[in-house]
Amino acid sequence: MQNEIQVLKNAVPPLLEWYGVHKRELPWRGTRDPYKIWVSEIMLQQTRVEAVKGYYTAFLEKFPNAETLANASEEEVLKAWEGLGYYSRARNLHKAAKLIAEKGFPRDFAGVRSLPGVGDYTAGAICSIAYDLPCPAVDGNVLRVLTRLLADERNIDEMSTRMAFSRLLREVYPKEAGEFCQSLMELGAIVCMPNGEPMCSLCPWQTICAAHLAGREEEFPVRSEKKARKAERIFVYVLKKEGKFALRQREERGLLARLWEFPNGTENAAATYGKILAEKGAKHIFTHVEWEMTGYLIEAEAFFPQFLWVTPEEMRENYALPSAFKAFKEWVK
Ligand code: SF4
Repeated sequence: MQNEIQVLKNAVPPLLEWYGVHKRELPWRGTRDPYKIWVSEIMLQQTRVEAVKGYYTAFLEKFPNAETLANASEEEVLKAWEGLGYYSRARNLHKAAKLIAEKGFPRDFAGVRSLPGVGDYTAGAICSIAYDLPCPAVDGNVLRVLTRLLADERNIDEMSTRMAFSRLLREVYPKEAGEFCQSLMELGAIVCMPNGEPMCSLCPWQTICAAHLAGREEEFPVRSEKKARKAERIFVYVLKKEGKFALRQREERGLLARLWEFPNGTENAAATYGKILAEKGAKHIFTHVEWEMTGYLIEAEAFFPQFLWVTPEEMRENYALPSAFKAFKEWVK
């Protein structure tokens, strides 16, 4: 551990220097407002930076602070989140905003960690970036970078490995905690990339990184084998009648809970709804399941009462449809 601490201590100054020169301009960089940092961190969970940029700016225009977010309806919040996926994040954000509007944004790790939807990583990121607290934010990116730097062979899918790296980081946090936290993330995002593609010749650690010096970059991080995703066959019906389209709300619990969607099912029932006008296939990948979809545009025989019938404009304005159904939205016009 002593040796690791020393290596990491030596790694901090060149990393900060590199970050100062090479960091990307991102809309959430430079702010110390915990609300804005929190929104960005929640959006960035399981979502790529490029995809988040536009959403972040639009979301903050609509909800510039916790009060405006707290006072919005759940439908409005989900609508602003539409297409970002993992909608429980939006619901938790909304729930947490109500607490923040009442009591103010928490000022320490325990308080931030207690907000709905905030785990150790997000709480660490918010506290270090907003308040310069030495609270490590350890995710897969950071673990990849650190296990390579130290040629550490522990399995990063084990909780004990995460905890060990968290302890290690706490020992070396400089006073610029926020910059350090972001510089680690940035190195993992643009230089020390996953899947055996680290760009070591651009890395500020190329002369001290144990994996690189041994030519073993691709061996790290060590991970458990991934379980294969389950594939599901789904038939999607875009029902059209007199300029209106059918929607239904998903169930209370489970995948995409309570979001609006086109009617669908696991058996092909297209012909029972009316005349099929068009057909196309699409695929959507969730974390644990993969949907193989066949969609049908159908001239509906009737306004089936189990569905909500809306105009294309109403659908656009008021109903958040998961991006899984994006391929079929082009029929709504
Ligand atoms: S030298 Fe290469 S493997 Fe090591 S931290 Fe830098 S990019 Fe990653």
